[in-house]
Amino acid sequence: MNRKVNLSKTSGFTALHSHEGELKEEIHKHDFKYEINLKGEINKEGFLIDFLVLNKILKDNVDDVLNQKILNTIIEMPTTENLAIWIWETLKPTFKDLLCYVRVFETHDAFITYCGE
Ligand SMILES: [Zn+2]
Repeated sequence: MNRKVNLSKTSGFTALHSHEGELKEEIHKHDFKYEINLKGEINKEGFLIDFLVLNKILKDNVDDVLNQKILNTIIEMPTTENLAIWIWETLKPTFKDLLCYVRVFETHDAFITYCGE
């Protein structure tokens, strides 16, 4: 059996959001950073996924879709939590069982991790 590895890739985008209810916040901007983590067996050439392919998947499906957008128009209640879930659900059909977790950083020391549960 081939060895399994965990691979992480970070990316990011700038977007706006606002919150109703208890969080009550006027519209404001974030430079969101996120990490995706894939877990799987390395192939016979010794790699899990080509980083160039991975970059393009993240750019086309997440970064270009959310960059400079008002997240409220795309995601219901776009908290960092729901953003992590949205990224997971967006990427899951592509990465399938390889997708281990999605982590979204609201600031450098505050982040949400979603594992698909
Ligand atoms: Zn915010």
